[in-house]
Amino acid sequence: MARFGPCLERPPLILRPAAVALPHGLQAGLEVEVADGVIAAIRPFTGSAEPYILSGSFVNAHSHLEYYGFKDKISSSEYWPWIRELTALKLTQEPAQITSDCLEAARANWQTGVRFIAEHSDRHGAAEAMAHVGLDGVIFQEVITILESQAPVEKLARIRAKLAETRRIFPNAVLAPHATYTVDPETLRSLATESPLSIHVAETTYEREFFADASGPIQEFYDRFSLPHPGRHRSAVAFLASLGMLKPGTQIVHACDVDAEDMALLASAGCSVAHCPRSNIRLGCPDAPVREMLDAGIAVGLGLDSAASSGEIDMFDEMRAALTVSRKRGKPISAEEVWRMATGISSGLASYEIKEAARTPLLKIDLPSKLTFEALIEESTPQSVHPLT
Ligand SMILES: [Zn+2]
Repeated sequence: MARFGPCLERPPLILRPAAVALPHGLQAGLEVEVADGVIAAIRPFTGSAEPYILSGSFVNAHSHLEYYGFKDKISSSEYWPWIRELTALKLTQEPAQITSDCLEAARANWQTGVRFIAEHSDRHGAAEAMAHVGLDGVIFQEVITILESQAPVEKLARIRAKLAETRRIFPNAVLAPHATYTVDPETLRSLATESPLSIHVAETTYEREFFADASGPIQEFYDRFSLPHPGRHRSAVAFLASLGMLKPGTQIVHACDVDAEDMALLASAGCSVAHCPRSNIRLGCPDAPVREMLDAGIAVGLGLDSAASSGEIDMFDEMRAALTVSRKRGKPISAEEVWRMATGISSGLASYEIKEAARTPLLKIDLPSKLTFEALIEESTPQSVHPLT
C-alpha cells in the first residue's frame, strides 16, 4: 500500500447503529469507529442513528461441515441408530460430493454471521472450504481407532499424514480424538499433550453406563466385536481426567450427561464446553446443564454441529433452542448469556466482543421490534445478517 502514498489508504469507517450489541446488553447512542479492521473508538453519539444492530460476528463452537448433505436424510431420532445410519451414508458419498457439501456448509455459516468455526473433520474438504470462504477457526482432524482395519499406531500415522495435508491449506489444524469410546485408551493418552483438544463427551447416557457399569449399547457394541473395556470409571469425564486430558484448551463437546462432580472437574481443569442444543434435542440426549456450567465458571460456546442432526445452519435458531432447553429445565439462562456464547465471548475459543482495540469482525443485523437481545434472538434469521467487515 505504501508505494501508492497515504492518500489511497481507506478512511476510517464511522458506524452509527440504532444499538451496539455489548456483552451485557444492547446499547443505543453509540458511534463506533473502525480503522483497518480494528475498532478504533466507541463514543457517545446524539445524532440520528441508522436502522440496524451492530454486533460482533458469531463463533460456531462445534461443526461438521462434511455432513451438510445429510440434512433430512437420516430417519432415526435416537443417537445410537442415528450414528449407525450416518456411518453407512458416509460410505455412499463420492469425494467430489464431500468437497461441495463442505463448501456449501461454509457459505451457510458465513450467511448466518459465523466467522470462526471449531471444525471436527474426519474426511477432506473442510480446510479448502474454510479457506475459500474466508472463515477463521481451528480444524480438529478426528482420530478413531476402535474397530478400524488398521492397528491404532498405523491409523494414527495415517491421520498424522492427513493432518499435514490439511495444514498446507489451513494451518491452524490439530489432531483430536473423536469420542471417549471410539478411541483406545493408549491413543487417547498419547493425544493428551495436544493443544487445543476437542472430544465428544457424554452426549448420551450410554457413556456413563459403559464406564460406570460396563452396560448399555456401547458395551453391547464392544461385546459384539470382542473389544476390551477401557476400565471402570465413575463417568466419561472421570475417565478423561484419569488420562490427563482435562486441562486448559480442552473442549468437551456436548456434555449433556454430566453431574456436579463432572462439572467441578471441568471447571477446575479450565476446560470449555460446546453446547449443541438443536442436535441434542433431535437425538433425544439429556438436557445439558448449561446454567450450572456457567455458574461453575466453565466457558460455554454454541455449536451448530452438523446439518445431519441440527438441521439448517442458523445461529439464531440455535440460540432460541439454547433458551428453550434451559427454560424447560427450570434453570434458565438469559438472552445476554446466549449472545455471549454465540459471539464467542464466553466460549473459550475466539471472542468477537465489540471493544476498543479489538480486531472484531462485525455484522449489521436488521432491527428487531424491541431493542433487546430477547427480541433480536426471537425475530432474526440468517437473512437478517449483513456482513460488514
Ligand atoms: Zn460432533
